[in-house]
Amino acid sequence: MRRSGRTNPLRARLAGSVKTLLGKLVFGLGLSRWLLSDRAVVVAFHRVLAHAANDAMTMPGSAFREWCRFFARHFRVVPLETVVAKLERKEPLDRELAITFDDGYLDFQTQAVPILSSLDLTGTVFAVSDFVGADATPWWDEAERHPFMGWQELRDVAARGFTVGSHGKTHRGMDQLDPDEARDELASSKAALEAGLGRPVAFYAYPYGDPGRMPEVYRDLVRQCGYRACLGYGGLIEAGTSPFHIGRICVNDWFASPAQFGGYLVVLALRRIVSGFLRGRHATS
Ligand SMILES: [Zn+2]
Repeated sequence: MRRSGRTNPLRARLAGSVKTLLGKLVFGLGLSRWLLSDRAVVVAFHRVLAHAANDAMTMPGSAFREWCRFFARHFRVVPLETVVAKLERKEPLDRELAITFDDGYLDFQTQAVPILSSLDLTGTVFAVSDFVGADATPWWDEAERHPFMGWQELRDVAARGFTVGSHGKTHRGMDQLDPDEARDELASSKAALEAGLGRPVAFYAYPYGDPGRMPEVYRDLVRQCGYRACLGYGGLIEAGTSPFHIGRICVNDWFASPAQFGGYLVVLALRRIVSGFLRGRHATS
């Protein structure tokens, strides 16, 4: 669902153009190496379809390849495991970028994995255990159905070096669930995916991604259920971030281009630097 409403389209376009210019400048000159040192990024996609239009959930294959090239040129693209392990050990970050996919659509195996593999990149897919191998149609796909991976496809991507995480059992929002239901979403999806894959499932991304929909107390449940990380949406990942509060940046048609995404990261980093500076000044005055 896209946010709409009172945003002035001209102003939004202008802000987008400024970000694109900023991204081209900072990434083109290599200043991003300095600006993003000590930080990591986790990006989230949903669907990659060969000849689809770009929308909130879907990216055409040619555009996805372009995004991946941008990531490879400007970041150290790593498995999500690397980012989580660094946060666990409190090691310094250094422009790591992990690619993730939500929901476990079939096109992850048929479209995204071949593109990522051809560029020697890897990624993580967060599957909804009840959707795997089922004829599921979630409410947002009722107008246009999209199939999900079955167990064979999920095992295939795992065998090709991609990580499988849990996106819950039924994709219900965690804010809608009582503690027993929340525990069941976490524990039974993990158990089902581990049984189906024959390998451990260590990472959890909650449905809808909005941190407002993930009650804080349930992050402890994620840990208690044996996961090593909990992911939603957010911004840049900084040193000291808890693995149970990893924010991802959703890549969709909200960004006109990888350069605009770059400009967005620059703005996020500059904001952090300025607020850190102001805090420091406040502390010493
Ligand atoms: Zn989802």
